[in-house]
Amino acid sequence: MILNYLALAVPFFLFFIWLEYYIAKKQGKDYFKFNSSIANINVGIAERLIDLFAAGGFYFFYDYLHTHFAIFDIQPSILLWIALLLATDFLWYWYHRFGHEINLFWGFHVVHHTSEEFNYTAATRITIFQALVRTSFWSVLPVIGFPAEMITTILLVHGLYPFFTHTRLIGKLGILEYIIVTPSHHRVHHASNEQYLDKNYGDMFIIWDKLFGTFAEEKEEPTFGLTKQLGSYSFLWQHFHFLVEIAYAAKEQKGFWNKLKVIFGKPSEFDPEMRAKAEKRFLSVRKVKAHTTKFRKYVIVQIAFTVTALFLLLFFEHYIAFFLQTMIALFILVTLINCGAILEQRRWVFYLEFIRASLITITTFYYFPNPTLIGMSIVLLIVSLAYFSNLQKLYLRLIYGKRKILKSV
Ligand SMILES: [Zn+2]
Ligand SMILES: [Zn+2]
Repeated sequence: MILNYLALAVPFFLFFIWLEYYIAKKQGKDYFKFNSSIANINVGIAERLIDLFAAGGFYFFYDYLHTHFAIFDIQPSILLWIALLLATDFLWYWYHRFGHEINLFWGFHVVHHTSEEFNYTAATRITIFQALVRTSFWSVLPVIGFPAEMITTILLVHGLYPFFTHTRLIGKLGILEYIIVTPSHHRVHHASNEQYLDKNYGDMFIIWDKLFGTFAEEKEEPTFGLTKQLGSYSFLWQHFHFLVEIAYAAKEQKGFWNKLKVIFGKPSEFDPEMRAKAEKRFLSVRKVKAHTTKFRKYVIVQIAFTVTALFLLLFFEHYIAFFLQTMIALFILVTLINCGAILEQRRWVFYLEFIRASLITITTFYYFPNPTLIGMSIVLLIVSLAYFSNLQKLYLRLIYGKRKILKSV
């Protein structure tokens, strides 16, 4: 039986999230907020999910470059493994630094920094777009001559380590503070305090920051998140808001070069007015003001279901047909959008239920092309459209409880 043991990362990370939550609660520390933690985990689920389809591509890309362009013929040895680890971390430093210093790259990396909290759930805030940018930096490695197998093995370590630097429970680590990136260093990186901005880009080793003058020691208590918090838990908005802002800013500029200057300019010089413009266009829809936290139950059930489905999908990936993999992945993505929108108490979540029902129906037809089933589904669709507004009211009452409809900004 060929199982994908990398899927075990899902329960592994969940265990440590639970452990951190448990210890923080025991110590009376308020390090977790419901909305923020769920939004963080949502981003992580999407990344693992899309990685299922992209991981093979990354491997192929490294292997292609190695076969066609390798300068040296590198055979694995202890010294070369160490050299590769250092080279990977060095390239990461520059990928990460550009991620903070160039608008377009910040548009992808900002997702990791949207969390207002700093805990293990924030560590899961990684997107596939970040992975793409990172891969382009790491593509130097196969050209030097490191084989794809070596690179992908090192990237596993590199993917695992930074998870553990996202915690407030661990203080300073003595002598280790001089060599590796510790939770204290990474707290500085995630802070919006003036003296901590654009500091500590390292992933595993802190030496690069010390070498290139971007190191800051944690002295005063960090305030986490962006200098101007996003204030939205929407899955889609958290992923794409800065790219939309860049598009608005570029549109306002005249001439090709000026547009390019905006796209590749510095985030610290970016016009803050763009946020309001983008929000006005994309977030000004009616929303429900809930007086209870009833909707949390629905979100928790959905996340529990999603995480289980993700684990099973990854673990048994070699036994699940591509069609079914795609349908499950789409279902999970719609569920993540749904959960984010519910945290925002949006009314349009109701439409997402139609999309999820359609995905189930299509999958059922694919495997059981029975005319009676098709007929029944069409009747069901017509009836639900006829009673659309009643059903919508009922649905919103069910998930949000007693509510008042407000115009949101
Ligand atoms: Zn960063
Ligand atoms: Zn981080």
